[in-house]
Amino acid sequence: MVHAPNRPPADAPPVRINLYSDTQTRPTPAMKDAMMVAEMGDEQHGDDPTVHALCDRMAALMGKEAAVFLPSGTMCNVIAILTHCRKGDEVLAHETSHILHSEGGTHAALTGVQIMPLKGPRGMFTADDVRAGIRPKTRYAPPQRMLEVEQTANIGGGAVWPLEQLNAVAAVAHEQGWATHMDGARLMNACVAAGIAPAEMVAGFDSVWLDFTKGLGAPLGAVLCGSAEFIGDAWRWKQRLGGSMRQAGICAAACLYSLDHHVERLAEDHANAKALARGLAQIPGITVETPDTNLVFFDIRETGIGLDDFQNRLRSRGIMISGLGGRVRACTHLDVSAPMIEEAVATIREVVAAA
Ligand SMILES: *Cc1c(COP(=O)(O)O)cnc(C)c1O
Repeated sequence: MVHAPNRPPADAPPVRINLYSDTQTRPTPAMKDAMMVAEMGDEQHGDDPTVHALCDRMAALMGKEAAVFLPSGTMCNVIAILTHCRKGDEVLAHETSHILHSEGGTHAALTGVQIMPLKGPRGMFTADDVRAGIRPKTRYAPPQRMLEVEQTANIGGGAVWPLEQLNAVAAVAHEQGWATHMDGARLMNACVAAGIAPAEMVAGFDSVWLDFTKGLGAPLGAVLCGSAEFIGDAWRWKQRLGGSMRQAGICAAACLYSLDHHVERLAEDHANAKALARGLAQIPGITVETPDTNLVFFDIRETGIGLDDFQNRLRSRGIMISGLGGRVRACTHLDVSAPMIEEAVATIREVVAAA
């Protein structure tokens, strides 16, 4: 079985409107300029000044003692679990979470934890749901060690956890002596949408990471934050997993640039997502979930068009969109403008009408 991604066929028409994911953003010319003049050193050796600047800035932004630069968000989740937990421990997380569905079974393959899937609407659960998941502390039950949340909840529809709910679930976890970890792949989207500063949003969480390759538009990189002790231990796993880098400042410079220039503009992505949702809601047969942030999930089953067919018809018209668990997901970001949203709605209307 080959698991490498397919390359697009040579004759595929160019993608003009990319609603597939905010991971598809390309570095802007100004971001590339910032990368070209980055000071660099050996990151693995502790000598890269731009990586230090990024980590210091992120630790301050998140209100944590320390931070570590990693190649990807997935590695942040894996390292956080490896650092907080031991093999055989149990992690409580939402049943739609990225750690459960989209990390290649890494927790069975590498971390050795098991995950208790919690239920709840829009990728979120309540303090009562967490309490209901508490196991007796006997030798029969797996030792529970960590609670994980996703802010925003991706499969949950890009939903923003209300701050009180985050603090309430974290409080239950801490009462039990568990660690709390936040998958903040799109944390800045949540902070901008809610108008809450990151440090306040993540105060209940012992560890948190932010992805720079989603709406922030950097080519790669994520930063994991926590206590100095936690980050010290995370460094050993970074080394073991091959996540220690060399002249990583060239990428850290893109991340720093994105913190200066691409955070406030996330509000434009959210406005575009709302415009897209309003437009799609007018199309017969389409049911749209109201977006909180930059992800718009909708259901096309009543149009009679299958998901693959729908994606292919749009792709042949230069629009790329994703399908997730039977729903369609459109994602707005840096490279999607308001006129593109209008064009996408018009094209989807045509495709549905033609079916
Ligand atoms: C994208 C994503 C990740 C993984 O991040 P990568 O940088 O792609 O490895 C983890 N969690 C959520 C919620 C995500 O959307």
